Amino acid sequence: MDGFSVTITEAVCLGASLAFSGICYYLYRKSRTTADKLDDAPHFTIDGKLKDILKATPGACLQYAVIEGAVQPVGEPLRSHFQKEIFGVLQKFMLREHRLVWNSLSGSWIDREQVMHQSVNSVPFVLVGSDETAVRVLCPLQASGVHMEITHEKFHQVNYSLGDIVGQYFSGEKLKGQLETEEMLKVGATLTGVGELILDTDDTLNLRPPSNSAQYFLSITDSDALRHDLEDMAVWWKALTVASALAGAAVLLWVGRRYYNHLKVQREWEQLRREHERRRAEARRAPSAAADSEALQDVGENNIENACVICLCQPRDCILLDCGHVCCCHSCYQALPRRLCPICRQNISRVVPLFHV
Ligand SMILES: [Zn+2]
Ligand SMILES: [Zn+2]
Repeated sequence: MDGFSVTITEAVCLGASLAFSGICYYLYRKSRTTADKLDDAPHFTIDGKLKDILKATPGACLQYAVIEGAVQPVGEPLRSHFQKEIFGVLQKFMLREHRLVWNSLSGSWIDREQVMHQSVNSVPFVLVGSDETAVRVLCPLQASGVHMEITHEKFHQVNYSLGDIVGQYFSGEKLKGQLETEEMLKVGATLTGVGELILDTDDTLNLRPPSNSAQYFLSITDSDALRHDLEDMAVWWKALTVASALAGAAVLLWVGRRYYNHLKVQREWEQLRREHERRRAEARRAPSAAADSEALQDVGENNIENACVICLCQPRDCILLDCGHVCCCHSCYQALPRRLCPICRQNISRVVPLFHV
């Protein structure tokens, strides 16, 4: 397509919006499918009947089921490093460093976080129902969902001397301090588990990551709250998909509009050129044509100011707009390498013929 062009910025914006909407759509489908699977998963109470249900199920296994029970350790529980009266079965300790880094683009200090140390401990645990029936939870660290509570959080601020402060302004980086956190899944907490429920050969009930690629969840909220969170996330991903697709469509519309304007200007120029040719032909055919051409020749020979500034032999017969200069003949105007006025270098948006009467 003649005159159709896409700038690098437009191509980058279009590519980025298409790629981003593709990623958002993938994440939307994933959240939607997970929420639907969770919606369809049967709920079971942890009691003596659960073993009978599983015995009656082919393979003694329910591929995706929801259970809820109280957390109990199988052996010795873990003790909180900071609050000695708190016991748990999962424990996560994190030390994060916070730095302020000067951003010359925004002209402000930006907070940067870096994990300095992280450790996770776990002990075997079960979910206990109303009648002491227990379901062993396998691979808890592979599960998604919020299943730990913050048991300790402390920020260690750094104190500076005057020399340090001056040094920081020169280096563009200053240490704020370290954030120390401990999270635990406490003993006795009510936990919702969503996964594969199986009756093992040793007659124990187990909850483990599903083998059908569904997501494994352990959460201290109930399954309804978990589903609502997933649905909210799906709505967000959908909105982002639509927004980035609209941004891509806007870039395409912008390019299309520019091409349409280009075609419109070309059509107008062509019409003007034809009109110009027609008028010149008419003038040559008119009875006074000879006299006129003589007069024009005189003008060309005697008054160099009215001759085309480019070829110096034809009369000036074009008005260049928007600058309004009358400086060249139509043939020289057409031969211009770029549509810039030869006198003032302004862009030529239109050209109209100049008629001598
Ligand atoms: Zn000329
Ligand atoms: Zn000009």
